[in-house]
Amino acid sequence: MDAPRILIIDDDPGLRKTLSDILRVKGYDISVAETGGEGSDLMERRRFNVALIDLGLPDIPGLAVLERIKTARPYTEVIILTGQATLDSAVSATNKGAFSYMIKPYDIDQLLLQIRRAIEKQTAEEKIAAHGRELQKMNAELKALFSVSNALSRSLDMNEFLPGVLRAMVETEIFPFEIRAALFLAEGGKMRLAASAGLSVPELDPCAEVESDGCLCGMSLTKGEVLISMNSAEDQRHAVCRKDGATHGHVVVPLKTADKVVGLMNFYVKPETEINEDQIKLLTAIGSQIGIAVNNAKLYEETRNSSLHDPLTGLANRRFLHIQFDKCIELAKRNDRMFSVIMADIDNFKRYNDTHGHIEGDKALARVAGVISKAARKADYIFRYGGEEFFVILLDTDSAMAGVVAERIRKTVEAEAGVTISLGVASYKKSMETMEAVTNVADAALYQAKQKGRNRVEISGV
Ligand code: GH3
Ligand code: MG
Ligand code: MG
Repeated sequence: MDAPRILIIDDDPGLRKTLSDILRVKGYDISVAETGGEGSDLMERRRFNVALIDLGLPDIPGLAVLERIKTARPYTEVIILTGQATLDSAVSATNKGAFSYMIKPYDIDQLLLQIRRAIEKQTAEEKIAAHGRELQKMNAELKALFSVSNALSRSLDMNEFLPGVLRAMVETEIFPFEIRAALFLAEGGKMRLAASAGLSVPELDPCAEVESDGCLCGMSLTKGEVLISMNSAEDQRHAVCRKDGATHGHVVVPLKTADKVVGLMNFYVKPETEINEDQIKLLTAIGSQIGIAVNNAKLYEETRNSSLHDPLTGLANRRFLHIQFDKCIELAKRNDRMFSVIMADIDNFKRYNDTHGHIEGDKALARVAGVISKAARKADYIFRYGGEEFFVILLDTDSAMAGVVAERIRKTVEAEAGVTISLGVASYKKSMETMEAVTNVADAALYQAKQKGRNRVEISGV
């Protein structure tokens, strides 16, 4: 530890000399001042542990010097030394924060004891203050982490939670970010804008075209490190946004999982903003927290998709049909809207399999799915209902119109899929409460189509 620093402010040269000699021998680092002005100047430039002040100084009263010192350096302890002691001055000195008050000629052992105690008090107070600052910082960091985790836990859908996360980041007090930021996800070697704050989408368009290593963002993506640029006008790594007007700085934080970088956050800061090591560590930790959440959301999305889609044809499956059908019935009831359905079944498919083999049968199924998707309209929902059966929901469509679509599908399958299909058409009626009620009618129409020779459309109720 450095030697404790003591400042002696006294206009008596003999006393200054004697006192500094004694204190230097005791291992203290001594500075001296002859006047209050000189003493205050020294105090502003350097931090002293203790100041010894004579009350009767030639320029400024010792008590005023004491006040100045306590304002500029609250943790410096002051011992007042005086030849003209009065009760008033002693009380005033104590009220203004002096550590102690000694009358000249003082006993040197007493003074040394006072100095030691003042240094002990001063060191303890500084430790407490440092501890307080550390606690405040930890508190602010915890608050930031809490608001980010809070935003992350709002939803499993990243399109919903990412804007909240970005907002929490720009609003936290511990980082000097402006309310201008963007969050990109890495997708197929490019970046997709997933959330932004204070920036318009056209402003961010050029960034979305950046490939790895292309600009600061691309570099952070490749390196997986927090990157800081203090000045867009001078830093050549600003390949894209340098031209966009006012000079600024950036802090780019990668969103990382254990083995890959899934995206990044790009924050704007004022030029020449310093980001310290502790902040970089915290940003890295937050980036990982978000990265893991993004990865989990992707896995969830994939699982959900695969559980609702059929891998052979790529169409939505029967589970999805149930979800969609319930929505359609609710919509029809609430808004008095109609819808129709088509049930389609490949003709003599057993024979096709027997003749060409199961693998060729699978290919024919995939072809039929593709043809139905092409021949149906954009707004229609198409499902693989069962083995070689398909289902189409046509919103705001009556049975006659659905019959026209069904006939177009039939013809296209016949022409392009190498097999034929039979189709049954039914329309939703207000009396039908469930999906089964609607499908039973369509199924009966399909049965009719099969009975009447296959490769045809039958419309229920016509
Ligand atoms: P119909 O015209 O009366 O519908 O005659 P069909 O032979 O198509 O009807 P059936 O219900 O007797 O047979 C359906 C066939 O569809 C039997 C089954 O092996 C085949 N099938 C169902 N799912 C698949 C599949 O995923 N792949 C293949 N290759 N064949 C399938
Ligand atoms: Mg069948
Ligand atoms: Mg069949």
